[in-house]
Amino acid sequence: MALSEQTLAKIREELSHYPNPQGALLRALHLVREDRTTLSEEVYSELASIFGMRTGEVAEIASFYSLFRQPPAQAVIQVCTGLPCCILGAREIVSEFEKRLGICAGRTTADGRFAIEEVECLGSFSTAPVIQVNNSPYLEGITPEVAAILTGSPAMAIGARQPTPATSWIPDGIEGYLLPPNGERWLKLSEYQEHGGYQAAEKASRMAPADIARLVQDANLRGRGGAGFNAGMKWSFMPPRNERPRYLAVNADESEPGTFKDRQLMERNPHLLLEGIMIASMAIQADAAFIYIRAEYVEAYQIVNDAIAENYRSGLFGADAKFMKRRFDVHIQPGAGAYICGEESGMLESMEGKKGQPRKRPPFPAQFGLWGNSTTVNNVETLAHLPAILTRGADWFKSRGTKKSGGHTLFGVSGAVRRPGIYELPLGTRLRDLIFKYGGGLDEGRNLKAIIPGGVSMPVLKPEQIDIPMDHDSIRAAGTMLGTAGVVVMDDQTCPVRAALVVARFFRHESCGQCTQCREGTGWVHKILKRIEHGEGTPQDLETVADCCEFMDGKCICALADAAAMSARGFLTQFREDFEAHIRELRCPFPESFAS
Ligand code: SF4
Repeated sequence: MALSEQTLAKIREELSHYPNPQGALLRALHLVREDRTTLSEEVYSELASIFGMRTGEVAEIASFYSLFRQPPAQAVIQVCTGLPCCILGAREIVSEFEKRLGICAGRTTADGRFAIEEVECLGSFSTAPVIQVNNSPYLEGITPEVAAILTGSPAMAIGARQPTPATSWIPDGIEGYLLPPNGERWLKLSEYQEHGGYQAAEKASRMAPADIARLVQDANLRGRGGAGFNAGMKWSFMPPRNERPRYLAVNADESEPGTFKDRQLMERNPHLLLEGIMIASMAIQADAAFIYIRAEYVEAYQIVNDAIAENYRSGLFGADAKFMKRRFDVHIQPGAGAYICGEESGMLESMEGKKGQPRKRPPFPAQFGLWGNSTTVNNVETLAHLPAILTRGADWFKSRGTKKSGGHTLFGVSGAVRRPGIYELPLGTRLRDLIFKYGGGLDEGRNLKAIIPGGVSMPVLKPEQIDIPMDHDSIRAAGTMLGTAGVVVMDDQTCPVRAALVVARFFRHESCGQCTQCREGTGWVHKILKRIEHGEGTPQDLETVADCCEFMDGKCICALADAAAMSARGFLTQFREDFEAHIRELRCPFPESFAS
């Protein structure tokens, strides 16, 4: 037997939470890893017999997820090399580990004590550079000196802890309703209730489901996961109730580089999310909600899990759930390091215990979602707005933002600013204010070079565009998108070709491989940008990159290929003179730029 009795017992307990046992497969694989048991043929075979699957099927699913492909070692050191972390020196941290341990990233030391792994995004950009060891809580703001100390022993690296740094704020003069004030964390049910918690759920319980949906539609709550679609309208796509179960799937797989807002909500105000889940579930008449959270968010997972457990104990969830007036279950399940599982249909596949490859649509999740049942997918922040809308009304919500984009949002500011972090502010706040007023501006003597306004999928802006209001429509008029409102700032030392290259590497790594255009296109864009950045490009390469973007755009199953095309095309269009300088001078003309 490869699996311990203890692990087997935990896996059996997990099975009870899912309509189809395979839903527990990813959690089971995590439990095996927590046991420090290597994922082997024998493990896959045992899991296959538990889940009624073939051994090869389990192995194939496990191999899809990067957390299950980690090099074997006592301590696996993961260094985030997403764009904001690279801007703040992640590559120097990788080099320090490589020098101290005498291995390259991706390798294990000969004695099996350490492995180094570069990962595309850990979702903690305001405290970059960030590392994680064996899926322990993050170590943030890492310096080469700290990296050197961590290589003392695997136990030291695994056991290292630091206080959670404050990274999210409600600026003076703003009446926040998402984040607790003064850096507080309302983790317990009683703390949340002391501040009016669950009054909105109580009010919703006295309303008809259609009235809740109409109120949210009137408020024009636009989804905060990236698409910006009216949440109430999305709920209206659910078909009439029938005898089949219905679900709410909560997207907490926040993996877009430059985005780290949902983590703050979950770590500081978990009951706000749970109350939003209750309200949405009343509106769509969901029998249960499943929260899919990225596995790297160890603390957020634990905090939300504890809050769920407290709600079961207090009768808010369970057989006769208060306010819901019926059975209502909420379950949390971890992802396993695949960005594409943040795409709603990829997430549903992963929640069912399969490879997180996006589905062809139609049918859409409202018709054919989790295990073939009607499902609505909502993002964490979207749900967190619901209690305020229920208690204060649609007009109040609309008054906090712009005419077509009501409410606050959690803007992320990262990269080359002095006060990176998350700021709760009304939609429509000017990009200039985010960078200079809230983000503290750039270092002395530095000027702006480029700004990505909403996570790295969004086309880049130039400094002369920073007076735009940050709302869905204004920013679209400027030729880009609000996305997840994660602003990445680059100063004039930053090479835009190198920045485009880091983003292209991300998309190449995260393509799920189903579509030829995406699989091949992301690879080619990365390869050509690398050549240009290293001074080996030709004028024809610029046309080939543009052709590759055309080849990917709008022709694939999901939006990842579109995002890869938008990003590369955006850099090429906005900074063409810098691309041409690389080709003309046969070198990168930004000697001070971050290492990639
Ligand atoms: Fe997968 Fe890319 Fe196709 Fe999306 S576009 S389904 S990520 S191959």
